[in-house]
Amino acid sequence: MNAASSVGRSRSEITLIAVTKFFPASDVQTLYNLGLRDFGENRDNEGADKSALLPSDAHWHFQGQVQSRKIKSIATWAKTIHSLDSLDHAAKFNEILESPERATEVERDFFIQVNLEPERNDRGGVAPSDLENFLGSVRKFSAVKVSGLMAVLPIDLEIEKGFEIVAGLQQKYDLAKLSIGMSNDFEAAILAGATHIRVGSSILGSRPTLT
Ligand SMILES: *Cc1c(COP(=O)(O)O)cnc(C)c1O
Repeated sequence: MNAASSVGRSRSEITLIAVTKFFPASDVQTLYNLGLRDFGENRDNEGADKSALLPSDAHWHFQGQVQSRKIKSIATWAKTIHSLDSLDHAAKFNEILESPERATEVERDFFIQVNLEPERNDRGGVAPSDLENFLGSVRKFSAVKVSGLMAVLPIDLEIEKGFEIVAGLQQKYDLAKLSIGMSNDFEAAILAGATHIRVGSSILGSRPTLT
């Protein structure tokens, strides 16, 4: 990956997540056969269906808005949740992940979604000004291990500026991971320190529309 080497970062520090939402499981299988192992979905039902059809060493990422009633299912197939933004949801994930029948399973990894447009709250995410409290409160849920921040940039915010804000918050709160960058801005995201990039249309082409 050229963007990585140009800033002295190794390709192995960056996880490429193929965002397969709206694409059929057969396309995911093709990517798997090509060697990809990380796949991202926005909806529980799609992720549950496709993950059941793929080999078990595929690593599924959930990056859509979390709905309370879907948490139990999401926790079964998604190993990494990028879009945690509610303490109620954290409590629910914790309860499910701590239940005795799951005790031996691998742990889940969480990213907190940051809202870079806090004056609008329809897209989800924790406002930067609330992040400190959120991180403090989420610590009491021992099965909800927060390792990073995730953001989707608002369209009207300059890319470099947006990434700089999130990377600054990641450093301020000493978190290891940063999930930023999509098809049209993943190179800038890598320059800004992304550890996870979520790329859909650059890999799979434009998404089929939902029927
Ligand atoms: C759809 C989506 C992506 C991938 O977008 P592309 O522009 O197709 O790369 C990444 N992150 C989130 C949260 C998404 O919803």
